[in-house]
Amino acid sequence: MSMGHEHSHGHDHQHGHHANKKALLLSFILIATFMVVEVIGGILTNSLALLSDAGHMLSDAAALGLSLFAFKFGERAATSTKTYGYKRFEILAAFINGITLLAISVYIFWEAYNRFLEPPNVDGSMMIIAIIGLLVNILVAWILMRGDTEENLNMRSALLHVFGDLLGSVGAIIAGILILLFNWNIADPIASVIVASLILFSGWRVTKDSFHVLMEGIPNQIDITQVEKCLLSIDGVVDMHDLHVWTITSNFPALSCHLIVDQNHNRDVILQVASKLLLENFKLNHTTIQIEGEGSAIQDHEDCCN
Ligand SMILES: [Zn+2]
Ligand SMILES: [Zn+2]
Ligand SMILES: [Zn+2]
Ligand SMILES: [Zn+2]
Repeated sequence: MSMGHEHSHGHDHQHGHHANKKALLLSFILIATFMVVEVIGGILTNSLALLSDAGHMLSDAAALGLSLFAFKFGERAATSTKTYGYKRFEILAAFINGITLLAISVYIFWEAYNRFLEPPNVDGSMMIIAIIGLLVNILVAWILMRGDTEENLNMRSALLHVFGDLLGSVGAIIAGILILLFNWNIADPIASVIVASLILFSGWRVTKDSFHVLMEGIPNQIDITQVEKCLLSIDGVVDMHDLHVWTITSNFPALSCHLIVDQNHNRDVILQVASKLLLENFKLNHTTIQIEGEGSAIQDHEDCCN
């Protein structure tokens, strides 16, 4: 299999994967276990706040499980039919997570609406489970925070999400107090609406971000006009076109473009300068640059993708 290109560029997006995987696995076990506790507690106390949090924990467990699966898949090597291997599976998993969260939030809103119309009797002891939930969420947040949350879409979305969970747990505890002290049962659906709003918010974020990657959108940290300016500033480059910058998976951006060059310049020098500039200024490691001589017939294919 001749997949290897001669130029040596280590895509260095593997770093931290091991630590992330361990963090995800531990979080997954914690959340999945607590979810069962919450379902039982929710049924026993007739609390929608607990049940919705359990539904939400289910989505968390699924999300974390999927992320784990994505890491495993992402490590699989390139094949002759998938030249990037399964690197982007992680993004696909994030997208599915996002859609699932949106669906769950809609369901809870609906259930809460019914409970507003007919407030059921809720046992205030649900508060105890909510407190345990808070502790589990704090623990998971702490575990995930030690992964590389800044660069990895999955880790970042997972962490953001857990922060929302903390607020949800606090809401459920307050509801429990209100029910215990004032028998104010409506606090239960109110708390579940808060949980649903958090799920909606994180679901929207994850869906939007992963959709952007799937649509081959420009990485957030890269300004394409700056990239263009940078390449045009190279001595010997007359013009350029067909510039694309996209993301294969977290921390793995790619670029392709055509440079039109002056016939009297050394093309290898131009190529080297361009690669160096792209790497240094934009951390673009994986680039494909087509060099075309000024006035060359190759330019007839122009603008086939715009
Ligand atoms: Zn959650
Ligand atoms: Zn193109
Ligand atoms: Zn061209
Ligand atoms: Zn390459």
